[in-house]
Amino acid sequence: MTTPSIIIEPAAPIAAIATPVGVGALAVLRMSGKGVFDIAQKVFRKKNSPAFRFAQSKGFRAHFGTVHDSDGLIDEVVALVFRSPNSFTMEDMVEFSCHGGPVVVKHILKVLLDEGCRLAEPGEFTRRAFLNGRIDLLQAEAIGEMIHARSESAFRTAVTQMQGPLSLRLDAMRELLLRSCALLELELDFSEEEVEFRSRTQLHQELADMQEELCRLIDSYQHGRLLNEGVSTVIAGRPNAGKSTLLNALLGEERSIVSHMPGTTRDYIEECFLYEKTMFRLTDTAGLREGGEAVEHEGIRRSYKKISEADLLLYLIDISANNYLDAVIQIQAFMEQYPAAHLIVIANKTDLTPENAERTHQLRAATGCDVCAIAAARGEGLEDLKHLMSMIAEGLNKQQEASVLVTSLRHYEALRNASDAVENAQELIKNQSGTELIAFELRSALEYIGEITGKVINEEILNVIFDRFCIGK
Ligand code: GDP
Repeated sequence: MTTPSIIIEPAAPIAAIATPVGVGALAVLRMSGKGVFDIAQKVFRKKNSPAFRFAQSKGFRAHFGTVHDSDGLIDEVVALVFRSPNSFTMEDMVEFSCHGGPVVVKHILKVLLDEGCRLAEPGEFTRRAFLNGRIDLLQAEAIGEMIHARSESAFRTAVTQMQGPLSLRLDAMRELLLRSCALLELELDFSEEEVEFRSRTQLHQELADMQEELCRLIDSYQHGRLLNEGVSTVIAGRPNAGKSTLLNALLGEERSIVSHMPGTTRDYIEECFLYEKTMFRLTDTAGLREGGEAVEHEGIRRSYKKISEADLLLYLIDISANNYLDAVIQIQAFMEQYPAAHLIVIANKTDLTPENAERTHQLRAATGCDVCAIAAARGEGLEDLKHLMSMIAEGLNKQQEASVLVTSLRHYEALRNASDAVENAQELIKNQSGTELIAFELRSALEYIGEITGKVINEEILNVIFDRFCIGK
């Protein structure tokens, strides 16, 4: 987004296959860094132009020719030339589009490595784009989110993020904090003269506005997280109620082991499914019952943890069992304990009892919850259930309609820390505390905000972010 005024110092040449390995019409290999034009020159011959030189080619030019190794021709390719700083990494880059066979692609990659490139690390091209100032960290992460997007809405949010609206807001906050810090520090230099270069009343007001904006961003995480990670949905209930069967039916495949023995699902299983535009992250928990072996206890402990983090809780009951009303107490306890989660009670195995309508009605009256009657093993009632889940998810999404969304836990945590620091600074101003203390809080806020966009570089954070990318991106 931003073109830096500095001259790019290219790093060592790297190469990678940029397209998925497998048979396809085309595949792309890319190279970036110092000397890539010379390396490309050694392996490429332009059709009917023996005098062609990459080093003299203009940027954004395509050249048709062949790639060779010492044994002869490997493939016909189109070579694309990008000249620094006008490339994705801002370094000199060459991309070869070749035929999409895995053997061909690997052969060309090997030649490039033999001629002096190093195999790129995961996300190294994007990392260079960030380090050279073409994109900020938020935009780099948005590229990763876009690639991994599992729903249309997550994809749209990532595309918006790539254009940098959150970065713009954070940069404005940083600007204000930087300016204020500089003035406060100047005051400290003149401390004997008791001058005030930064009006405290005005600073307090500006920090209050900033705090409001930070809170809006923090609140948007609820919505952003749902878009990005899906609605966290936990299937709970006693052993044998049919939880694994329901999970499989919702996913449409045999994902979880179904068995007649109580306590088969020892740990939880997590899978995603898309219904209309909403993604649900489904967890099948170990059967909730007392007793059992130690390993089962551990599973139950984890189940409760999952339930405590859920947006949506599907509590399954075997409606054909005589003790079907026993679950009511546990459901009521859940509602008290996890008030934030939306609860749907599911009366399963309706095929096994002719009294299912009556019993479902009783459950509705006893719990006061939405009750959905299904026969998971036969796939009956699933459409109604999915519809209800989708309506609840829509309600969750509507709770937060924000133009700029925070979708990552990393950003959320940094924003909360920044917000705490800004709040502390306001408190200090109100109490007429010393300049040094106020400046300290402002510097902390500055640092937390800088961590988000990458203005403050933390090597560990960079590794976590770029390791998620594939090689070649
Ligand atoms: P979990 O312990 O809650 O995960 O239960 P499972 O999904 O393993 O199911 C326990 C047993 O109930 C299995 O034999 C399933 O085939 C059976 N079952 C599940 N749903 C239904 C249903 O709707 N109707 C009938 N008749 N059997 C079901």
